[in-house]
Amino acid sequence: MQQKIIIIGAGAAGLFCASILGQNGFNVTVIDNGKKVGRKILMSGGGYCNFTNLNIDAGNYLSNNPHFCKSALKRYTQWDFIQLVNQYQIAYHEKEHGQLFCDVSAQNIVDMLLNECHKGHVTLKMQTELLDLKQTESGFLLDTSHGPISANKVIVATGGLSMPRLGTTPIGYKIAERFHLPVTPIRAGLVPFTLQPTLLDILSQLAGISVFANVSVKHQQFKGNVLFTHRGLSGPAILQISSYWQAGDIVHINLVPDLDLADFFDQQREQAANQQLKTILAKILPKRLIEVLIELHIIEDITLKQLNLKQQSQLIEQLYDWQIIPNGTEGYRTAEVTLGGVSTDALSSKTMASKSIPDLYFIGEVVDVSGWLGGYNFQWAWSSAYACASEIINE
Ligand code: FAD
Repeated sequence: MQQKIIIIGAGAAGLFCASILGQNGFNVTVIDNGKKVGRKILMSGGGYCNFTNLNIDAGNYLSNNPHFCKSALKRYTQWDFIQLVNQYQIAYHEKEHGQLFCDVSAQNIVDMLLNECHKGHVTLKMQTELLDLKQTESGFLLDTSHGPISANKVIVATGGLSMPRLGTTPIGYKIAERFHLPVTPIRAGLVPFTLQPTLLDILSQLAGISVFANVSVKHQQFKGNVLFTHRGLSGPAILQISSYWQAGDIVHINLVPDLDLADFFDQQREQAANQQLKTILAKILPKRLIEVLIELHIIEDITLKQLNLKQQSQLIEQLYDWQIIPNGTEGYRTAEVTLGGVSTDALSSKTMASKSIPDLYFIGEVVDVSGWLGGYNFQWAWSSAYACASEIINE
């Protein structure tokens, strides 16, 4: 009798896995609680889906076991996915740092996945929520909002908790716990910071302004834009560092990462010593930021001539290392990813199969593997889906 495979979640990982299995002759059904497939894909990359990155490396991922993602990423690489995108003649471009985006719309990627599923005669059951999963003699019994479904194999591709308005649920983690598989603590990643009310009062004047900076927490650093918002700090460099931030950690912001400030002040003293310090700094920083830094007593409202060398070195230190302790993050509401998840200790890195429960698999974001901003999370979805599907095909 043909094996019945149920995949829970019609997102990036679930659809891709279903399409490969379906095209290899398996009887595959994907269930999803939403109305539309691939809702996160449609929202991703500002509607243009940053579907992979030219530079994929295990170092771009966070996990309790940094080696876990290596095997899957090697077996199905960014080049493999790009080849599929090329087959569909989907136009795309590199934005920066190897990030590949669709030229026209993220819908192209969803249509491609749907077409691949169609080729494999995959059944899609939308608006069907998985409520519980039990093991039976022949496999599993799924308790869904549309009644029970039996399956020989179950692939959990339920994603994380970010963007709850898309109908995210913690069922993937609950299934793991029900089967006594460890789940590492989960929290929001790639997420803006909130600030203490007093600091926010001052910094929110800068809402809409961004500066190119080097942002670091402990030993991790990212260069990129920092955006001031009405709620706190955002922008690519902040989102990236947020995944490495723990409550109470200091965020170090180098506001002039590409400039030798000592040289800059030496030159300015020769040319414009009588000018106001803020006028001179306006050559390298936004004026409104300078006003705010004056309010915060980081910059003094004096002329350059009045700035003595001790004050100058203090100022240089502060501009190279503006220290902020965020109040917290905006949480899952605006996060792009959920850090943590089903522990890699419980899964085979080659197949994504649970080590202790035969025929139960976890793929995509529900696993404790989270990527940086820049297409890394989708590549993990594709690669982990492929690892799982090829294991089942080769069984
Ligand atoms: P998902 O795509 O989240 O799919 C999980 C599916 O499971 C969902 O359809 C959900 O409805 C369904 N589900 C959940 N619970 C149940 C249940 N109980 N019953 C039935 N179905 C259920 N990554 C990038 O690499 N590049 C980007 O440009 C990018 N942009 C992003 C922008 C935003 C706004 C967000 C929120 C994320 C972005 N990401 C991006 C991250 C990326 O979208 C995810 O990492 C990726 O979608 C994870 O794929 P997945 O298949 O594991 O989970």
